[in-house]
Amino acid sequence: MTDPDCIFCKIVGGQIPSNIVLRNDQVTAFRDINPQLPTHVLVVPNQHIADTEALEPEHDPIVGAVIRAARDIAQQEGLSARGYRLVFNTGRDANNTVPHLHVHVLGGRAMTWPPG
Ligand code: AMP
Ligand code: ZN
Repeated sequence: MTDPDCIFCKIVGGQIPSNIVLRNDQVTAFRDINPQLPTHVLVVPNQHIADTEALEPEHDPIVGAVIRAARDIAQQEGLSARGYRLVFNTGRDANNTVPHLHVHVLGGRAMTWPPG
């Protein structure tokens, strides 16, 4: 459920400080330490799940909670009218750096597509 070496498990557990914007039984959301856009928030399950490759059917309610929390944050941050992007990075090609499932909530200015 918790990985003692995982930085995001430590944020969920309060052992590492973070700027938390939303928290409930299933998820924790906090501002990215190195923001790439005016709004850059990470939503993580409170339970340790490595990445999308590790997802099992039993995780479906948690994944739903993560995405709905991301939507709530977008609304809270005033992004809903203009739009926003939700990103899950998995593996090397996507530059995934923290092995605890998280969705990036990105917005606050127009973005380009496709990504580089
Ligand atoms: P990813 O590349 O998808 O694995 O993204 C990991 C994200 O976590 C990066 O955007 C980092 O800036 C962010 N990050 C790493 N450590 C922390 C931390 N202690 N608090 C907040 N964000 C962090
Ligand atoms: Zn973890």
